[in-house]
This record gives sequence, structure tokens and C-alpha cells, in this order.
Amino acid sequence: MEEVSGAQLIAEALRTQNVEYMFGVVGIPITEVAVAAQAAGIKYIGMRNEQAACYAASAIGYLTGRPGVCLVVSGPGFLHTLGGMANATVNCWPLIVIGGSSDRNQETMGAFQEFPQVEAARLYNKLSVRPSSLEVIPAVIEKAVRTSIYGRPGSCYIDIPGDFVNLQVNKSSVKYVECCPPPPISTAERSAVSEAASIIAHAKQPLLIIGKGATYSRAENNIRKFVDLSGLPFLPTPMAKGVVPDNHPNCVAAARSTALLHADVIILLGARLNWILHFGLPPRFRQDVKVIQIDICAEEMGNNVRPAAMLLGDINAITKQLLEEFSKRPLKYPSNSEWWKRLREKMLNNEERSKDLALQKSLPMNYYTVFHHIRELIPKDCILVSEGANTMDIGRTMLPNYHPRQRLDAGTFGTMGVGLGFAIAAALVAKDRTPEKRVICIEGDSAFGFSGMEVETICRYNLPILIIVVNNNGIYTGLDAGSWKEMLQYGDPVTSVPPVSLLPNARYEEIMSAFGGKGYFVNTPEELQNAVKASLADKRAPSLINVMIDPQSERKKQEFPWLTRSNL
Ligand code: ADP
Ligand code: MG
Repeated sequence: MEEVSGAQLIAEALRTQNVEYMFGVVGIPITEVAVAAQAAGIKYIGMRNEQAACYAASAIGYLTGRPGVCLVVSGPGFLHTLGGMANATVNCWPLIVIGGSSDRNQETMGAFQEFPQVEAARLYNKLSVRPSSLEVIPAVIEKAVRTSIYGRPGSCYIDIPGDFVNLQVNKSSVKYVECCPPPPISTAERSAVSEAASIIAHAKQPLLIIGKGATYSRAENNIRKFVDLSGLPFLPTPMAKGVVPDNHPNCVAAARSTALLHADVIILLGARLNWILHFGLPPRFRQDVKVIQIDICAEEMGNNVRPAAMLLGDINAITKQLLEEFSKRPLKYPSNSEWWKRLREKMLNNEERSKDLALQKSLPMNYYTVFHHIRELIPKDCILVSEGANTMDIGRTMLPNYHPRQRLDAGTFGTMGVGLGFAIAAALVAKDRTPEKRVICIEGDSAFGFSGMEVETICRYNLPILIIVVNNNGIYTGLDAGSWKEMLQYGDPVTSVPPVSLLPNARYEEIMSAFGGKGYFVNTPEELQNAVKASLADKRAPSLINVMIDPQSERKKQEFPWLTRSNL
């Protein structure tokens, strides 16, 4: 009789479900699971902290449509994944977390790292389960993978008691399950589609909003067709940049506030009317705006705004339905309309204001100057990871995306510390699928600090990631070296350092050189250009450019006071 261990069963079941990547930190009781996973052909990436491992695994799900796995030890290891599970579920990204837990016969006795993990995970996951026996492990893993990608995607947690890992069972008693197919595709009700088409056809100031649901559902070809055929202005949300290229003439990102404020009909393609879209309410939207909501999740319909039409189903399929509808009654929104004139004027105006800031020659540089020089040098097809308050917000407007699923940032949950994990995931996916694409991770100095030790992971696996730390010596703002010294004269740093401050001129690039990558410390545009060129020229080595900017550099003055909060 052939026997199989719990660790092997987990590894083989994951492989059967087409899981390609596993991130984790090994220890009791799950080391054997990682070893078995590697033996089963799953790429195992050892990370330095479970939180970053979980972020990395979640980005795999977003980028590939099949969940990545995060493997962690019991108790503290498990608890460090809560941020990652919540981030994935809030972002609607599939993810599988596997946590080792205490041996069953020691439960409630104060076992090593004992914690009520299944209960704790429930709040962050679509499914939180512990297999009742070794025999059902393949079935439980199939259900978790299926649950993570069917309907609205999200995270699923599987708890593995420590004593399961090395326990053996007879193969013939195991309930093996085949690979679960991709999610079934649902289309919208026909009447809702024609209702939507007629609302769009009568719109005076229409606007298409493309969200990261569209990115995830790989609807780029149909959406591109729809934009080209209809002539409608469109606005991508942060992570939907690139579904239609940012330089498409119909992209009105540079007139975002105006477009939102005056649109009379909004076609909402896979984006929630949450804080990112100002809840769809006045003062950022018209009171009478008609929203055509397209989403896979019925419970999302009507949140904050009662939609004029509800198209429930898969975005790609529904965009196709709309295209079919408009092939019967062609729609071509005139490019010489008042609405287009107004949007274009606003765009020109806003672009001029950014340009002025970008071309300032004074040192230290400001955010706009830094992004201007980066933009000139980075390849159009690079994958951009971005986080940090101002770094992410200004970078979003200054750095264009031309391809879908090539921008990853703090997302719906506004999570800082995701950058390095996301960059590692993106670099692995690029390595396997599009090796010519570079990953460029642009971080604020504070954001970088959350997972800075993952630089060692990057160097260990020799991932050609370029990290650019936009360093303003602090969170939001910082102090320059002179003011710092002056401040310290007033006493103990613990009582005098402003809460927003980080150490001035911290040499983050030396973290990269410590592990064998290339580090650059830059103060001027010329040094920045040289460092970016040198980093990109080396196609294999990881590098980090630490760019000093004015610690008081801010976003350009916003027209409306309610625009000054981060991400608004
Ligand atoms: P953004 O951050 O870009 O505004 P959100 O994360 O708020 O986007 O919204 C994404 C929406 O897309 C979610 O409401 C989710 O249910 C939906 N979604 C995800 N996948 C699909 C799909 N395949 N088809 C339709 N809607 C989807
Ligand atoms: Mg900073």
C-alpha cells in the first residue's frame, strides 16, 4: 500500500489546482510543506516577513488570475498575514493562506504558538477552514482555490494542524479532486443591456470609469474597442491605468475632477463607489448623475448611489454585449461636443501646471522633477509598483501606463508596505512570462521601511528589480539635516523628533549594496538620470536608487480644498 504524508498531500493538491507560486517563512510545523511544494514543482520563495510574503502571494492572484499561496507558521507567523489577507479581500484579489497550527492533541493546553486561527481568519477571508482529516485535504484545497476566484475574488485560509504534516495515510483512502476550471462567465440581463445602451446614447456628458475589476477580468481588448467605437471620454482608477493606454486621446485623467463633477452618465466598469471615487456623491459628483453599474458582485449594486442600470456579470462579457448592442445602433459621441471641449481645456491647463513644477531647477529636487526624469528614461512596458503618500499620488499622475496589470499600489485598503512584496511577485511573473519587462518599484522612504529587508530576498533570487526610494526624510514631510541638528539641541530626540520625521539623508541604497545589488545615492537630476540609465542597462542585477528630495516638497496646489487629502 502506498502511503503519502500530509505535507505531500498539500503540495500535490496545490499543484493539481495549478498553483504556481508559494511565498512563506518556514518554521515549525510547516517547513516540510515548503520542501514538498518545491519537490512538486511549485516555485517556493522564502521571504523575510510573513506580511510581505502575503502581499506577494496576493499580487500573484491579481496578475495571473490564479491564486498564489502564502505559507506560514502558527501563532505569530499566522498573525502577520492578517494585513495581507485583509488587503487581498478588500482589493478583491484571490489568495490562499496556509497556516500551520498546534498539534490537535495539545489544543487548549497552551501549546507552542497556539492561537484560534480559524476563528481569527474568518473576518478577513471568504473561507476559513481546517480539513478534518488528511484524506480530505485535496478537496479542501480545491474548494479554497475555487472560492478564491469564483464570484468576487478574495482570500481563503486553510489551517493545518502540526501533527498533520508528517502523518501518513494510505493513498487509496484520499479523496483526490481534479483541477477546478476557471470561473464560469455570466452575462448581464438583455433588458438591462439595452436600457444601458439607451441611457448612454442619450447622455450629454458621458464618462466611462475603468476600475481594477476590468484589469483583473482581462477585458482590455473589448474595452479598448468600446472606447474607440464610442468616442467616450474615460478615466481609469489608479490600478486600472493601462487597460486603455494613458496616452489614448480619450483618456481624461488630467481633468479628473472636472470629469467626475460634471458627468451626467457614468459607465462604471468594475470599480466601487467607495472613497477612491468619492462615494459617487456631491460635492464631487452631480446629484442627478446616472450610473450604469457593471460588476460581478450583486451585493455591490446600489452602494451609495442607486444605479440607473445594473449589469451583473463579467466585465469582459458585458463589454462584448454592449459592443453588440451598439453594432445594431451605432454610437459615436462627437469629439467636437461642448463636453469634450471643456475636458480638453482642463487637461491642457493641468498638464501645464505639472510641467512648470517638473522643470524647476532648484535643489533639492521636488517630486515632479524626479518623476519627470524617471518618465523620460523608463521603458514604456515596465511594471510599476508604487507606494508612499505623495510618491504614489504624484507618481500616478506623472508616470503613464500603457499596458494592463502593470501598475500595483496601496490599493483600496491604502496599505503601505506592500511595495517590495508586490515587486517580487511581479518580477517572478515577468520572468516566467514576459522576461523583457522590467519591474520598477517607486517607494517613499517611509513606505520602503515597512518591508526593507525584502531587499535580501530580491538579491537572493537575483530578481532584476529597480527600487527607487523618493526620500524626503519623513512621512508626508521631513526635516533637512540642518534643521535636524538644530532640533537636537533642544534635548532628547525621543521628546523632540517630530512624529512625521525619519532620519535625514538615510542611506537606503546601502541596504541594496549590503546584499550584492547596486546602490546609488543621488541629489541632482543628472545623477538621477545616470543612475536610472545604469540600473536599466544591467538587465539582471537588482538596484536601488536613493533620491534625495526637498523634505518640504508637496503636491501642487489643488483647486479644491477637499483635494488635499491623500489619494483624492
Ligand atoms: P478600483 O479600486 O479600481 O476603484 P474596486 O476594487 O473598487 O476598483 O472595484 C473592483 C470591482 O470589480 C469590485 O466591485 C469587484 O466585484 C468587481 N469585479 C472583479 N472581477 C470582476 C469581473 N470579472 N467582472 C465584473 N466585475 C468584477
Ligand atoms: Mg517620505
